[in-house]
Amino acid sequence: MIFLDAAATAPVRREVLEAMWPYLTGDFGNPSSHHQLGEHAARALAGARASMAAVLGCRPGEVTFTSGGTEADNLAVKGIALARQAADPALNRVVISAVEHPAVEESARYLERFHGFTVDVVPVDAAGRVTPEAFTAALRPQTAVASIMYANNEVGTVQPVAELAALAREHGIPFHTDAVQAAGWLPLDTRALGVDALSISGHKIGAPKGCGVLYVRGRTRVEPVLHGGGQERGRRSGTENVAGAVGLATALTLSQAGRQDRQDRVTALRDRFIHAVLSGVPGAILTGDATERLPSVASFCFPGTSGESVLLELERQGVVCSSGSACAAGSDAPSPVLTALGIPADVAQTAVRFSFDASVTAEELETAAAAVRSAVTSVRSLGAG
Ligand code: PLP
Repeated sequence: MIFLDAAATAPVRREVLEAMWPYLTGDFGNPSSHHQLGEHAARALAGARASMAAVLGCRPGEVTFTSGGTEADNLAVKGIALARQAADPALNRVVISAVEHPAVEESARYLERFHGFTVDVVPVDAAGRVTPEAFTAALRPQTAVASIMYANNEVGTVQPVAELAALAREHGIPFHTDAVQAAGWLPLDTRALGVDALSISGHKIGAPKGCGVLYVRGRTRVEPVLHGGGQERGRRSGTENVAGAVGLATALTLSQAGRQDRQDRVTALRDRFIHAVLSGVPGAILTGDATERLPSVASFCFPGTSGESVLLELERQGVVCSSGSACAAGSDAPSPVLTALGIPADVAQTAVRFSFDASVTAEELETAAAAVRSAVTSVRSLGAG
């Protein structure tokens, strides 16, 4: 099997599992316990927090462990908006882009439904980019928080996050970015990016599912989403997933070593794959930005097919990929991300996303490109579109 669905999830790295093992077995303590087992766990958690902070270029106290990317996004969008509104009731708007992951989009909609907020959605251009002009036009004196993703999970387009964060800052608006897909590929120094909050998920970078992190700058106030025992400095109650935190910190630290070389190598492979598909499949359309995209994502539409039939045919040929985001899989509606790029609904239904991890090889992608040619031809000849 050639696994080209790494943007959905990736296997746990051996080094990560080994780093986690002690905290699932002998050193299984609760970090809030006052005996020795608890202290061992607390020390491990503090070490993981310090490692995360080193990669994120921040202080350990600015790192909050969560149950994953979804929770980190919820905490950032709802938590910052509600805390700011509590201090100033006039703040009742949130800014998001038209291509956010549902974890951000639905958090904003929750604020709209239950807390009287207005959601200002910044449109994207045909490549899926938020332009500084469109972003600035959406910012208002009443904006409580702005959330624009670092890189898109369906088409891989990378946003000019540092530039957008600087604009938000000029307007005095906290800026959050969902870096779940960017982690492992793009720089994550929060100071250089100038962001106030940033989300990461473990299972995209070689740690297990169900662990994530939210960076929140300095004194930015965040209303908790989960209430309880006051762990994570009151920001996120619940007994900490010590092994998950250790795994996430290990995975993130490992992902930084040789990042630039890996990025260059996979980008070159990705571009060769894109070329092979575009030149080999008549009518194939690359979705997302041609250059400002994740090294790891090649996404297309194949008019005259249905994305699902192409996926099935590819799987029969041993190539596993997806029709877009795993979250939207199984839904009949065209992807809101693709329609936001101006792609007509019938064409959006033909989307297929290939996403790789760093272990991908040129041979695998050559085989995959040949499989794509044959899968699209066979689906078209059956009239499955
Ligand atoms: N944000 C983006 C961009 C994602 O791609 C995902 C997962 O696919 C998430 C958030 C959610 O992360 P998690 O699966 O850890 O909840």
